[in-house]
Amino acid sequence: MSANPKSMEAELAPFKLLINGKLVPGAATMDVINPATGKSFIQCPRADVAQLNDAVAAAKAAFPAWSRRSWADRRTALLSLAEALTKHQDEFARLMTLEQGKPLMQAQFEIGGAIAMIHAFTEMRIEPKLLREDATQKIVQLRVPLGVVAAITPWNFPMILLMIKLAPALIAGNTVVAKPAPTTPLTTLRFCELAASILPAGVLNVITDQNDLGTALTQHPDVAKVAFTGSTATGRKVMASVAGSIKRLTLELGGNDAAIVLPGTNIKDVAPKIFMGGMINAGQVCLAIKRVYAHESQYDELCAELAKLAEAAVVGDGMDPATQIGPVQNRTQFEKVKDYIEDGRTRGKVIAGGRTLERDGYFIAPTIVRDIPDDARLVREEQFGPVMPVLKYRDLDDAIARANGTEYGLGGTVWGADEQQAFDVAARVDSGTVWVNKHLDLPPDVPFAGAKQSGLGTEMGHEGLEEFTQSRVINLAKA
Ligand code: NAD
Repeated sequence: MSANPKSMEAELAPFKLLINGKLVPGAATMDVINPATGKSFIQCPRADVAQLNDAVAAAKAAFPAWSRRSWADRRTALLSLAEALTKHQDEFARLMTLEQGKPLMQAQFEIGGAIAMIHAFTEMRIEPKLLREDATQKIVQLRVPLGVVAAITPWNFPMILLMIKLAPALIAGNTVVAKPAPTTPLTTLRFCELAASILPAGVLNVITDQNDLGTALTQHPDVAKVAFTGSTATGRKVMASVAGSIKRLTLELGGNDAAIVLPGTNIKDVAPKIFMGGMINAGQVCLAIKRVYAHESQYDELCAELAKLAEAAVVGDGMDPATQIGPVQNRTQFEKVKDYIEDGRTRGKVIAGGRTLERDGYFIAPTIVRDIPDDARLVREEQFGPVMPVLKYRDLDDAIARANGTEYGLGGTVWGADEQQAFDVAARVDSGTVWVNKHLDLPPDVPFAGAKQSGLGTEMGHEGLEEFTQSRVINLAKA
């Protein structure tokens, strides 16, 4: 594939679905938009319910043989997938920038993370656990695969979020039907081309939709588990739709993570980290810093530093190596973010950005808003875009209470010179992951789980692997 985006678009081979080991066209097609131009650059397949049913049937049929394979066999297959992805890493990164918008370096980083994720799960192993043994009995806990897993992903990190589901599901012996988000289907479809020549037929199936097949997939009686990443609103629908069949369920949902900056923090040092913590991937990160609480003694200084960084940031097409912040991924999100900026302007004071760029595509200048109350929509809701509200506090207990005053509980950060104090504050933040003096460090062997309405269950780490299995206890009487 060419490094030149224009010729790359022309060279893109037709994309196919993967159903029962075969690369097949969709029942229909749909446009894929490059967020840097706002224009369609290619058509991709769109599945219908019949293809969804075929995909689930293929996964169901493939399950007995795949689950009976040895762990070592499945590990070998996964390592081949990682190797194939590594070989095509540059091509995947460019395709991701085209469909998702993020700067090429960040796309490279994501594909690298996806490969690392596969490697990490191939290093894990689930062994039978001897719970009790004496002269009369032996009790052993096995963990067995579940069956067909539906892996549903959003548009902000299409590859890494797929791999967080796919790698543990497959290594544990499950088969998978994956469904990417409608606006970022291409990297997942390209990946299924690689998988088609590596995995046995039916072990991985990939379908695409226009947000219209989710319920049919999650309700399907032959799907044993749903592994879902997306918004809290959709997560609620997914939870309701699996209730009828009591499916296993993992939900990784939205967040409204607060950064708490402790008094006495070196503002010049932390401001760039906080800025990128909110602006990386154009703010479209579940764990992005979405609100900043600064002590009144340093509030003006932090606001001024963040505004300076916002004005200096290079916003542009992710294909341009100079770009630091790409476009917002799709028009719907672009409109939402513009609304949040208006809310920031009405309820607070915009001190940087606050506008779209005068060019095609979904570009928003990184925006800093100060003097905004906690009940503004921009503070209460998940903006999921490059707009950062900065709030003032006097009393630390009050800041922690305000940070926790949300239905979300995904992540958070604490910044401060006194490590013990920062650690103690972090321990009081009601979230699944809280970083101190760093952000977005997510080692694949460390469990990741949202608190409150940010999620249910765990991904990554050994706990994340176990969620793709069922406990089976064998309780044997000795003669
Ligand atoms: P979304 O909920 O709109 O869509 C996510 C996926 O669900 C897409 O594939 C979509 O097609 C599918 N879907 C839509 N309706 C469905 C239904 N009724 N049943 C089943 N699936 C359905 O989310 P989005 O806008 O694509 O992604 C942004 C959201 O994802 C943000 O809220 C963000 O915080 C969250 N997110 C969370 C994590 C995490 O790990 N917690 C990671 C990334 C993104």
